[in-house]
Amino acid sequence: MLLDYLLPTPCVLCLKTGSALCSSCESGFELSLHPFRLDQISGFSFTSYNDQSSKLVQNIKETSYTALVPFMAKFMLQNWPYQEEVTLVPIPSSPTNYRKRGFDHTLLLARALARGNQSILVSQILKSSRDRKDQVLLGPKEREDNLNGAFRVRTNLRVQGPLVLLDDVLTTGATMRAAHQALTDIGLEAHGFCVFAHAGPRKPSK
Ligand SMILES: [Zn+2]
Repeated sequence: MLLDYLLPTPCVLCLKTGSALCSSCESGFELSLHPFRLDQISGFSFTSYNDQSSKLVQNIKETSYTALVPFMAKFMLQNWPYQEEVTLVPIPSSPTNYRKRGFDHTLLLARALARGNQSILVSQILKSSRDRKDQVLLGPKEREDNLNGAFRVRTNLRVQGPLVLLDDVLTTGATMRAAHQALTDIGLEAHGFCVFAHAGPRKPSK
């Protein structure tokens, strides 16, 4: 973003001027590779959804602070769990959020990951077929309806390698399940998924 170059850059965590994430906050960032399953799909998170990680994610999404994306990618690559070549399938933003932000943060993250590791490919095979409401505001049944058919697969794209779905944050997993279902519906199998942060079921909602 242009503003990043015009204004002194404050660290999102400690507000010290100089970098989007200063070196002391970067080295103190809590990372832990956490493997877990969502129904039959296995995946990984790289940190929990805590004060630090939520500030990173929210600043990218709400204030377009895209200078933070490479940091997020770097954190994930430090513990990258796949030895083999994988093709990341970023879960697309809803059309409204895309228009509002002017970018798709999960796609930016996927590209940053691919820049840092030659065994990572990116395919935008998933697209949002319509808008969806913020899942946080909905009950379990409404969440399911909200996501039913929310994603389509671009069948004109050829994909190679094991597919790994990518999202920034996983809370209930409903979005990830819907994206996985969209692939399954056209006969594609997702090898797994990766999310930067996992909110986890035990964390009380605020
Ligand atoms: Zn800092």
